[in-house]
Amino acid sequence: MTRNALALVLESPKNLQAREFPIPEVGEDDAVLRVEACGLCGTDYEQWLGHMKDWGGGMPIIPGHEIMGFIERIGPLAAKRWNVSEGDRVAIEPIIPCGHCEDCVRGAYTRCQSDLGYGLYQSTAVAPHLWGGYATHVYLHPRTMVHKLPTNLSTEVMTLVNPLSNAIRWVYEVGGAALGKTVVISGPGQRGLLAAAAAKKAGASNIIVTGTSADKSRLELALQLGATAVINVETEDPVARVSALTGGKLADVVLDVSAGAVAPIVQGVDMVKRGGKIVLAGLKGTNPLNGFPVDKVVLREVQLVGVLSAGWESTELAIDMIRTDAEKLSVLCSHMFTLDNGTEAVRTLGREISDGKDAVHITLIPG
Ligand SMILES: [Zn+2]
Ligand SMILES: [Zn+2]
Repeated sequence: MTRNALALVLESPKNLQAREFPIPEVGEDDAVLRVEACGLCGTDYEQWLGHMKDWGGGMPIIPGHEIMGFIERIGPLAAKRWNVSEGDRVAIEPIIPCGHCEDCVRGAYTRCQSDLGYGLYQSTAVAPHLWGGYATHVYLHPRTMVHKLPTNLSTEVMTLVNPLSNAIRWVYEVGGAALGKTVVISGPGQRGLLAAAAAKKAGASNIIVTGTSADKSRLELALQLGATAVINVETEDPVARVSALTGGKLADVVLDVSAGAVAPIVQGVDMVKRGGKIVLAGLKGTNPLNGFPVDKVVLREVQLVGVLSAGWESTELAIDMIRTDAEKLSVLCSHMFTLDNGTEAVRTLGREISDGKDAVHITLIPG
């Protein structure tokens, strides 16, 4: 059979081109995925701009690392290992762990030093070429991390698996949001909003989301998803507000998911209680953080932790949470584009263009 897969290849910055690739033959222990959808996140826009060109294989590359779809063909060993069969609906993790580096053998496979994975890692020069979700088909390497998905939920809401797994790891697994805790989330992007929902699910008492005047509709979404209070940092002093909202007890955890802004980190030091945790997930590019109050961190034993991705457990928790809370979470799904409008999808993500509706979660489907 000589059917081809169609993919969007980022040939150079801001230049996505449709290309065909042969659908790979499967062996004993690998598979081919027919893509149902690929979620977009801020990284996709950075990549499109050309800011990620030192990462992995560079260009030309098929972007898209939040991939879900149906098993089209699978070898017998892979079917056994992943416990899936042809036709099953699955999500795959962005990272393909090597299984042998120091981080992998310690169980921290998301920090795998081999830098293999989907969307951001291998260029199209690496056979069998189909390493990204902006495509009709994706190659499933023998070490791909595969999660079985329920079949009764919509494509759009199911593509929240990846961002929700991130949010669950950051606010719950690392941040420790749980029964009775106070959580502050800086930045109401899709991950911040999903973190508010995850903190609610975990039982946190106070869930405070901060943003700016431009985030008005997102702060409203935060309240719908479980936030107990929202703060516009342009009109209110966020530190004083958090203190007032908690009766002076301050926050157990501050999660920073804001992009570019460094003020929330400095404010976070004053918002978090002694021994509390600040979880850093928002990238700041080259923005310097001068005047960081190191002494407050030392004297109050504040913990600072950086987080990047999710993992097996948080992905399973995300699937389970979507299963139970699909309707509530679906308010985040604002846009869906087909592959032939891939550039429009990425530009909408970067707020370069707008159809008037706030782009919170964008899904790309083959069409
Ligand atoms: Zn992402
Ligand atoms: Zn490894």
